[in-house]
Amino acid sequence: MCNECAGEHPSEMRCPRIAQRDLQIGELALARLMATGRFRDGDVRCDVRNGEVVLRGRVATWYHKQVAQHAVLETANVVSVQNQIEVGPPSTSMRSASQAGDAAKLIRAHDLTGE
Ligand SMILES: [Zn+2]
Repeated sequence: MCNECAGEHPSEMRCPRIAQRDLQIGELALARLMATGRFRDGDVRCDVRNGEVVLRGRVATWYHKQVAQHAVLETANVVSVQNQIEVGPPSTSMRSASQAGDAAKLIRAHDLTGE
């Protein structure tokens, strides 16, 4: 029997309850990242496994990397954060700067972390 959901599922299968929670943590963590107003859509990814978050992606400065880590650490149910974000100029120019800017503004309107 599974300790987490008290249900019966094969031991090689991930507990659906944990999988669901990881999904929620990932969404919350991403929302927190975006609420800082310092990241554009797609800059940083959050992979969550059993509450352990792995941050990946690329940001412009070390400062941004630290901001990302702190934002995610404060997310509910996060057990730990592995910060694997790379620091440096973007490797591609694929993203649409104007679209990402609009999204950031929208989020800023909801959050009051303006400077
Ligand atoms: Zn379970």
